[in-house]
This record gives sequence, C-alpha cells and structure tokens, in this order.
Amino acid sequence: MPLNHFACANCGFWQEHFDPPDCPVCTDVRNDLPPDGWNFLPEADVAASHDGAFRQVADDLWAFTTSPQLGLGGTGWLIVREGGNIAFEAAPCYSDPMLDQIAALGGIACLAASHPHGYGALFQLQRRFDPPVVAIHRDDLAYTKAFAVTAPYDNTLELGEGCTLHHVGGHYAGQAALHDARGRRLFCGDMFKIDQDADGRSTHVSSHKAFHKDIPLTHGELQRYRDVIAPLDFDAVLTPFEYAPEIGRDTALAVLDEALSRPPQVRRHKL
Ligand SMILES: [Zn+2]
Ligand SMILES: [Zn+2]
Repeated sequence: MPLNHFACANCGFWQEHFDPPDCPVCTDVRNDLPPDGWNFLPEADVAASHDGAFRQVADDLWAFTTSPQLGLGGTGWLIVREGGNIAFEAAPCYSDPMLDQIAALGGIACLAASHPHGYGALFQLQRRFDPPVVAIHRDDLAYTKAFAVTAPYDNTLELGEGCTLHHVGGHYAGQAALHDARGRRLFCGDMFKIDQDADGRSTHVSSHKAFHKDIPLTHGELQRYRDVIAPLDFDAVLTPFEYAPEIGRDTALAVLDEALSRPPQVRRHKL
C-alpha cells in the first residue's frame, strides 16, 4: 500500500503511513481511545468531506478553522508580518480557498505549533509554502511523522520581529508557547484550558496535565509555567482552540499561584 496521509477520526492527528496501527495521541494517557476502534481517514476522503473558514481576528492576526469539526477541532493562527508571516498551530484540514488566502496574505516564513494537539494539518502548510523554519521542541519530535521539522530547539527559539518560542513542558513534555511581543499575545498551547460561552466570552480558566481525565499538573510543572511567562508582557492568550482577550499576564499568574498554594487538584477559576 502506498504512503498516504491519514487523520485519526477520533482526535484528528495526522500520520504519514500506509496503514496506521494506532494513533499515538489517542493511546497517550491524555486522550480517550475511540470507543468503536480505530478509523483512519485518507487525506482525499477528509478533503472531500470537509470545508473551512477564515476570519481576521486583529490587524495582524487571522484564524483558520475546519468544518465539520475534525478530531479536537483546533484553530490555525497566522501572524502577518512584513518580514515574513508566522503560522502557529494548524487547522485540522485546509481547503484550497484557505491555502489561497494564506498565499494572498504573504505565505508562511515560520511554521510552529505548541504540542501535538495543535499540529492539525501542519503538513499541508509545509507542502504548499515550504517555509524555511518548521520549529517543534526536541521533546515532541516523536509526534512529527506527518511533516519535517527543520528547527528543533531547546529552551527558546527566536522567530523574528518579537516572536519567540518558549519551552514550557507540563501538559506535554515538549509543549511550547509563542510570545508575540508586538501584539502583546501569548499563544499558550494547552497551558491553560479556557471555557467560553456561546458568544465566545471566556468564563472559566484552568490548568491541567490532562483535560479529559482531570489529571492536575505537579507543583514543579506549574512553577515552570510561572517562571517562563512571568517576564513576558501579554494582554491575551490564544490556545489551539480559543482566543481569550480576557486573560492577560496577571490573570494567568493568579491561576498558577492559586494552584501552587495547595495540593495538586484540578480547579476551574471563574473569570
Ligand atoms: Zn487519535
Ligand atoms: Zn493538549
């Protein structure tokens, strides 16, 4: 059987394979196994059954999403910069109009993601735009079979024009956050889980090792989050799933400080 890209129907994780035996994201303790067994969707089937949309979130920021939802249903962010655009996280599937819109906005110079739950169809962005920098933290390289990493890194990686990747670990060993100093934003991966109401207003925020199973982070992991983000200025956080202009640095630090003040337990903070 020839190599193909397959998406896990349960979580949306992509693998380049001829017959995936399992999904490394679903077999991991942080995710649930599919109740009815494995179902891997070839790329052509996903493309034929999914569409997508894009919207401008701010002057220099666009969001790309896939419908109907595939897997975890993440968002691909595009930061538009004169020196070269930065794509962070990826939508689960990009239609041709979505890719054409990215091209019209100037393509992609740097491509990165926080951790495997945010990879989406990153391989489609690499195939279309072939950015010189594809950056994933060294501790998550085992999950990158669907695309080719050109820039593994240790603690930080400067992507240019005030955008810097910071390794934070915790939720995933190689989890990283992208700080956009000019936009005063923190693309925080799954450092924070944000519940939002039907109007997109953030109502609760929490920090976990595993959301589905309510496994908390250790104090050491929470402290590392705190040490990394405390020196960074930001007024908003963006996960692979939500844009939360209500959560700036003070709120984020308060959530971590509260969790550090007591034994490990998952607690959702009302905003
Ligand atoms: Zn999966
Ligand atoms: Zn995650």
